[in-house]
Amino acid sequence: MSMSRLFDWFASFSLAEWIMFSLVGNFALFDWSVVLCGWIRRMFGENRLFDAAQPVTRGDVVLAVVATLLNSLVAVAGWLLWQRGWVQITHPAWWRSAVDVVIFLIAMDLGMYVFHRLAHHPWIYPWLHARHHTHVSVNAISLFVLHPLEVLGFGSLMLSVMMLVPLSGTAVLAYLVLNVLFGTLGHARVEPFPEWWSQNRLLREIGSSSFHAGHHQHPTNNFGFYTQIWDRLLGTLK
Ligand SMILES: [Zn+2]
Ligand SMILES: [Zn+2]
Repeated sequence: MSMSRLFDWFASFSLAEWIMFSLVGNFALFDWSVVLCGWIRRMFGENRLFDAAQPVTRGDVVLAVVATLLNSLVAVAGWLLWQRGWVQITHPAWWRSAVDVVIFLIAMDLGMYVFHRLAHHPWIYPWLHARHHTHVSVNAISLFVLHPLEVLGFGSLMLSVMMLVPLSGTAVLAYLVLNVLFGTLGHARVEPFPEWWSQNRLLREIGSSSFHAGHHQHPTNNFGFYTQIWDRLLGTLK
């Protein structure tokens, strides 16, 4: 099925059908992240970043389920914005989709850098972001242990970028998968990237597992998620 056919199919859903689809899709992404996290740890266990995993508490599980429900709500909002013409989805040539993925990643990385730094402000940190940082080491669901407002803030940022820039449908789907992939990597407790990546000028800009693990250990550094570009430019890279 071509991408434009896939999006035609999405457009044919009723609101109730799309709500169901969003819930199934978001819980599938959550499960994939947990399974992927376990797989990365087994495959690359020798490059361990933390000795012990953060124990998974009942509170962690509750927050992760709330985050997944809210992500589904964001997907419903996105679908409605698209149906009403506020978000435009294009179906260009493959190379243009590839460019769109990079645009989407770098724009989101900048937005998240700004909001993440704000979240560390002493007025905001204690009630909003401190819960995520109770994970000094990490576990398989750390990525989803967020304040509900952080989840909605991320969703709003994503929908804002999509309202500003018409993006390729392929790029949007690729971004959603890459976002979970990077988030899972950042909380995987091991570093799957080989040592020589950190020597390469281009590859070293990719947000590795140690990059976000570094933020959990030194919360005044490494505010970016997908790349080290904004931390490097703004002097917060460790
Ligand atoms: Zn984190
Ligand atoms: Zn933080």
